[in-house]
Amino acid sequence: MAYQKILVAVDLGATTDRLLTAAKGIMDDSGSELHVLHVVEPINISYGADIPMDLSTIQDEIYEQASEQLTNYCQHYGVPELQRHLVIGHPEAEIASAAKRLHVDVIAVGRHARYGLALLLGSTTDGVLHHAGCDVLAVHVDQPEEPS
Ligand code: AMP
Repeated sequence: MAYQKILVAVDLGATTDRLLTAAKGIMDDSGSELHVLHVVEPINISYGADIPMDLSTIQDEIYEQASEQLTNYCQHYGVPELQRHLVIGHPEAEIASAAKRLHVDVIAVGRHARYGLALLLGSTTDGVLHHAGCDVLAVHVDQPEEPS
């Protein structure tokens, strides 16, 4: 059975192109609808009391920058405006809840090599697997090692 709707969760980092290219390949093969989501993480307000600056302005700027980057990627990959999603929150929970709201059959996330402390902390991908009520496709997005 082909997937009808796919949600690609992008962190807007260096591997975003690789993830979108892989997802687009799946979508083109199965004719499914591609949605793209980025989650802007909230600035921790608990730091705010000691810092003499307006954190809401910084949050707005981060949101605006993310919106611009998301638009650029989506235009490049031909994702219509109604299928672009930008929310504020915690990535794992927001990705899973957007997937439910949009009734997608599969979520695509990047899978990165992890070492040291990052291994202990766990990845967004692990969290999405835990929260999601649909299939999750973890795409290896890191560059393969150059042969020495
Ligand atoms: P990480 O656990 O940060 O290595 O991220 C793994 C994958 O989770 C990324 O490649 C994205 O697919 C997804 N992801 C991480 N952060 C976000 C975010 N803020 N918004 C949307 N997707 C994200």
